[in-house]
Amino acid sequence: MNDERTAIVTGASRGIGRATAVELAKAGYFVIINFKTNEKAAMETLSLVQSAGGDGEISQFDVADNAQTKEAVKAIIERHKNIQVLVNNAGITADGLFILLGEEEWDSVVNTSLKGFYNVTKPVLREMVRRKCGSVVSVSSLSALLPNRGQSNYSAAKAGIIAASRSLATEVARFGIRVNVVAPGLIETDMIKDAPVAEIKKMIPMARLGKPEEVAGVIRFLCSDDASYITGQVIGINGGIC
Ligand code: NAD
Repeated sequence: MNDERTAIVTGASRGIGRATAVELAKAGYFVIINFKTNEKAAMETLSLVQSAGGDGEISQFDVADNAQTKEAVKAIIERHKNIQVLVNNAGITADGLFILLGEEEWDSVVNTSLKGFYNVTKPVLREMVRRKCGSVVSVSSLSALLPNRGQSNYSAAKAGIIAASRSLATEVARFGIRVNVVAPGLIETDMIKDAPVAEIKKMIPMARLGKPEEVAGVIRFLCSDDASYITGQVIGINGGIC
C-alpha cells in the first residue's frame, strides 16, 4: 500500500482537470487521474504529470454511475491510504432552452456534476473523516451565479454543488476537512469550443478568456496549507465579472 499524499481529480483527461492534475503533481501529490472513456487522453495527462516531476495513475469510472464509482474509489483507497485531496471536476453541458430541453439533457448534466459530486465525495470523505484531514474542491461555474440563457440544467447542477459544498463544509470542519468551490467564468477548453468567444470577451473586464492553469492554480492553493482557514467558500475565477 502506498502512503504518499494522494489527490483524486475527476475528469482529468483534458482541460481544467488535466491542468489540475499537473499542478497537484508539482505540489507533491500522487495523482489519481480519473477518466470516463478516453484512456489515451488520460495517459497523456499521466505523461504530463510525470514530466512535471510527479507521478500518478489513471482510473476509469463514470462519476454519474454510483455503483461503478463506489467500486473504483474502494479500489483506490485500498491502494492509497493517504487520500488528502479530492477535486470534483468532471462536468458536461447540454445546452438548450428549458422549454425544449429533453429529460436526457437534464439528467445527464445533473447526474454528471451534482450526482457525481455525491457519488465520488461520499466514499472519499468516509476515509478523510477516518484520518481526520482532507480537502475537497469542486468545480462549479459562473453559470451557477449569473443567469445564462439555455443553461437551466447546467446552472442548476452547478448551483447544487455550491449549496451542497457549503452545507458539507459545516458538517466536516470539526474533522479537519475543508470543502470549497471554484466558479470559473469562460475558460479556454474543449467545453466552450462552439461558444461565441468574440461576443463573450466584450462582457469580461479583462477582455480575455481564462486558461485551465489559472483555475488549477487556485485549486492547488485551496488544497494547500496556505488555505488552512478557508472552508465553505466559493472563489470566482472569471476575469472580473461581478
Ligand atoms: P472539458 O470538456 O475539457 O473537460 C471535462 C472533463 O470531464 C472531460 O475530461 C470529460 O471526459 C470528463 N467527464 C465528463 N463526464 C464524465 C463522467 N461522467 N465521468 C468522468 N469524467 C467525465 O471541459 P473543462 O472546461 O475542462 O471542464 C472541467 C470542469 O469545469 C467542468 O465541471 C465544467 O463544467 C467546469 N467549467 C468549465 C468552464 C469553461 O469555460 N471551460 C467554465 C466553468 C466551469
